[in-house]
Amino acid sequence: MVSVATLGSHCALQVLKGAKDEGLKTILISEKKREKLYKRFKFIDEMILVDTFSEITSKDCEAKLKENDAVLIPHGTLIAQMNSKHIESIKTPIFGNKWILRWESDRKLKEQLMVAAKLDVPKTISEPKDIDRLVIAKRQGAAGGKGYFLASSEADYNKKRDNLISQGVIKSDETLYLQTYHSGVLAYLQFFYSPIKNELEFFGVDKRHESDIEGLARIPAQEQIGVEKVPSFNVIANSPLVLRESLLDKVYKMGENFVEASKNLVPPGMNGPFCIEGVYDEEASFFTFEFSARIVAGTNIYMNGSPYSTLIYDEPMSMGRRIAREIKEADNSNQLEKITT
Ligand code: AMP
Repeated sequence: MVSVATLGSHCALQVLKGAKDEGLKTILISEKKREKLYKRFKFIDEMILVDTFSEITSKDCEAKLKENDAVLIPHGTLIAQMNSKHIESIKTPIFGNKWILRWESDRKLKEQLMVAAKLDVPKTISEPKDIDRLVIAKRQGAAGGKGYFLASSEADYNKKRDNLISQGVIKSDETLYLQTYHSGVLAYLQFFYSPIKNELEFFGVDKRHESDIEGLARIPAQEQIGVEKVPSFNVIANSPLVLRESLLDKVYKMGENFVEASKNLVPPGMNGPFCIEGVYDEEASFFTFEFSARIVAGTNIYMNGSPYSTLIYDEPMSMGRRIAREIKEADNSNQLEKITT
């Protein structure tokens, strides 16, 4: 019987609770310092304690996972803490498509996939000297918005970048990615694609609370002059959203196009959970600035199901549980290789 394993962080509780609800054995790979926290949760059957998550490719860890026929669920922490090469070398079967995680981490590949999926992507600015409008400077990988900043000219960009380097937030040799800033309502669209059913499910939508760009909005413009600190976009929390129903048709279309483009560019395609991230402008047009090619932490707000999963399932269905159900069904029908890489 297969078991479900994940790293102790991000959405591990949701994933393992969902797996337990589906009757699967659960394994947590936990840093020793978090053992006490995770011991509190009875739905975690076994813990593999490590000093750092990179030990996931150690002989010991891989052997324990193999013993349990474990499927590893990748999430943001795996991407933030390990480079693509390391992730690709993991021998334990990974749920979804481990090859597409490289496309999530690399800004150029990411843009290529979003464009191939016919998503409207904010314009990229190739060099700081070309900044002629408000841009957002972003770091590579899943940085969670930490160290991102806004700039409206080359001089402004250089000043803020130098400031963040001197604070140790970004490295001096780090290439930042510049993108036109779009203002509007931020929305993070959560999907699940099942290659077994060949069906796309729209699972939920959330918004992120980011510090301290959000705090800045609470300070009247005349007082903002006195704020020296460059506000960052560090994600602190997520809250639920529901969309105007008239927007849903386009949401499904975006998800379907993304699944289609991924099949062509990164076989076997975008299997399992993913998220299209962007902003609705005043015309209700959606500009996609990012995607996550795996479960996002924003699904944690729907541990008991979301308004949209309720329309599909007659029982509480979190994204974690949906993943476990797919694994269970694939296992029962000998199709595990179809949903793992
Ligand atoms: P990301 O890592 O791309 O998800 O970006 C982190 C945060 O930066 C997002 O949650 C948004 O608040 C903000 N952001 C990123 N790109 C843009 C953009 N092009 N326009 C407006 N806000 C953006």
